[in-house]
Amino acid sequence: MFRKRNVQRKSSGNSSSANKNFRGQGKRFSKPSRSRKSRSGQSQFSDVSKFINKAVPEKNVKPYTPKNSFADFLIDENLKRNILKTGYKHPTPIQDQAIPHVLNGSDIVGIANTGTGKTAAFIIPLLDKVIRNRKQNIIIIAPTRELAIQINQELVKFAFGLKIFSVCAVGGMPIFRQISDLRRNYNFIIGTPGRVKDLVDRGHIPLEQFQTIVLDESDRMLDMGFINDMRFLMSAMPENHQTLFFSATLSDDIKNIINNFLTDPISISVRVNDTASSIDQDVVYVKNEVKLDLLHDLLIQPEFNKVLIFGKTKLGVEKLSERLSGRGLKVKSIHGNKNHTQRQHALKLFKENTVNILVATDVAARGLDIPNISHVINYELPSTYEDYIHRIGRTGRGGKAGKALTFIG
Ligand code: ADP
Ligand code: MG
Repeated sequence: MFRKRNVQRKSSGNSSSANKNFRGQGKRFSKPSRSRKSRSGQSQFSDVSKFINKAVPEKNVKPYTPKNSFADFLIDENLKRNILKTGYKHPTPIQDQAIPHVLNGSDIVGIANTGTGKTAAFIIPLLDKVIRNRKQNIIIIAPTRELAIQINQELVKFAFGLKIFSVCAVGGMPIFRQISDLRRNYNFIIGTPGRVKDLVDRGHIPLEQFQTIVLDESDRMLDMGFINDMRFLMSAMPENHQTLFFSATLSDDIKNIINNFLTDPISISVRVNDTASSIDQDVVYVKNEVKLDLLHDLLIQPEFNKVLIFGKTKLGVEKLSERLSGRGLKVKSIHGNKNHTQRQHALKLFKENTVNILVATDVAARGLDIPNISHVINYELPSTYEDYIHRIGRTGRGGKAGKALTFIG
């Protein structure tokens, strides 16, 4: 049974807003100004000052005082124990403000800076929803396989000992294995839009029996051309269902989807600035001929101990990775021309510090939570400012300090 909604609408000052309709939200949800693209597709940011920002030193960051503690949330005691085991002491702002509404059954649009705990803001209350009613089916959609797998790993951590199971339905892996997993007992499916739609089409995911859908990094899915898949999935849900959107950025296109598909969504924005205040951002002016040498010089500095480098194209990223490797650096690459196993392997080696440099396309820009990345380097410019926000958001996570450098030709 679906719980009756008890939708609270409160406007709580600067840090959160709750509105009936998304239209007319004003500046809070306005899209960061996009870069202009030239005919060659090369982005031309007219204002590089957007890439320069001093991080706010930790001692100057006004600590957030959560209204709730994990102990106060009206959630299952075993779940609380698992939260404590992960080492979380206090809810982050988005968790503090979103969890009560998710527990109430409301539709939510949650906007918070990169690395501020959006995953647990939906995983914790949704696990509680399942504990209260084991017949609940929940589907979580993410733009990339790596992010879907990471969300699943988070879920498994919080679901320890609760006998709640999930199926990961991502592309690039054998579909028959997933089909057989879907015949077993599960409450959560976590997947990428294309593969999930494929499984729905083949009759293996009965979306009409799902009570909740989460779209993580939803705006990225639109950029990747998944708009029709998203519309299809949202339309296939039963009438009375809960929808949650989470991201650090929200484009106008996604606002249209929100207006069409969400029922009186509660919008919670705890984002103060476009980028996380923990990231020190600067630009490096460099001529093309010496770009690689300069990158090399930086990478051998001791403080560049774990570096994620972004390039624009799959070929360019592969070439750069080979060149750095040829210079004796420990480097791996991740992009769409690599198969699933190679991508997972590269990520694993980087996470474990076996290699300390990962060169990537924007496939690694969204959502990935890799501990202790010291630097993000934009070797080539991102296409849009939103992409910039997400790329640099791979560092400075969970309140830790990070640095971002953007090469300007
Ligand atoms: P986002 O989705 O906002 O980019 P994540 O959900 O990936 O952020 O979380 C970023 C990091 O912060 C993760 O390593 C996560 O384990 C950690 N984290 C999340 N919530 C808390 C909390 N309440 N206390 C401590 N660490 C947290
Ligand atoms: Mg996230």
